[in-house]
Amino acid sequence: MSGRFAPSPTGALHLGNLRTAILAAASARAGGRGFLVRMEDLDRVTARPEHEAGQLADLAALGITWAGPVVRQSERFDRYEAAIARLAADGRVYECYCTRREIREAASAPHGAVPDGFYPGTCRTLTAAQRAAHRREGRPAALRLDAGGMEVAVHDECFGEYRGVVDDVVLRRNDGVPAYNLAVVVDDAAQGVDEVCRGDDLLESSPRQAALQQLLGLPTPRWIHLPLVLGPDGSRLAKRHGAVTLGELVAGGYRPADVVAWAAETMGLSDPGESCTFEGLVARFDLARLDRRAVRVDGTDPLRTWQHVEP
Ligand code: GLU
Repeated sequence: MSGRFAPSPTGALHLGNLRTAILAAASARAGGRGFLVRMEDLDRVTARPEHEAGQLADLAALGITWAGPVVRQSERFDRYEAAIARLAADGRVYECYCTRREIREAASAPHGAVPDGFYPGTCRTLTAAQRAAHRREGRPAALRLDAGGMEVAVHDECFGEYRGVVDDVVLRRNDGVPAYNLAVVVDDAAQGVDEVCRGDDLLESSPRQAALQQLLGLPTPRWIHLPLVLGPDGSRLAKRHGAVTLGELVAGGYRPADVVAWAAETMGLSDPGESCTFEGLVARFDLARLDRRAVRVDGTDPLRTWQHVEP
């Protein structure tokens, strides 16, 4: 069984991504699991081979190792299609012809029980004649899950129980590209991933992913959602916040080992100024001690000037 880190190769990894990767790799090793890296390059417009190479080089520089060749989602569309076919055979899939604008407008109109931002189900009850009319207009269809308003509770190692109503998520976009939520569930199961460690911006996606796991008869992994690293303005860390990538930090005189030590300290797993190495972090790893607060950095020198933020 394995842990994994699954970045999208759309740019350089920043400190927040690197911190998550360090936690994922250390937790997997400490728990006697294997560790995989998977490239979530479903979107061929934004994903680039040079970003993939740069991300892998950064992980290696931090002392993170992974098993086997790196799997790319762009090469696994047949698996995602097989999963969609299985859901369709169970009557759980419908065609959606809505444009983004129609969805925005419909979602902001008052619609009773549907939570804010949810797809209001406009296309769930289309007749065959209505579908044929949309096709004649040349509208491409996305495929959506008919979730039936199911509510799923997941357990997260950081946040405890997290409960959510599952929306009718897109399974295949209207340009034919499989959707993230489906691909991640299919791949984690196919790759034997039983521990998913990632940023807490994806906590709210976990009930819908758990729903897909249930509907596809796949196991649910142990989830660890790590609080994000924030910029000085309190928004999630980004390029505009200054020197935030490994390359930029190294150009400013830091070593990759300094990033590992910073990650261990911000996670509350080493003492201030202790300079914990990756191997040291694995040796002392204790999820119960993990600091569950987000970290806010000062963009001018993020490794030196940072603080925990109360939730
Ligand atoms: N590919 C996603 C990202 O870059 C992470 C998905 C996951 O870990 O489940 O944010």
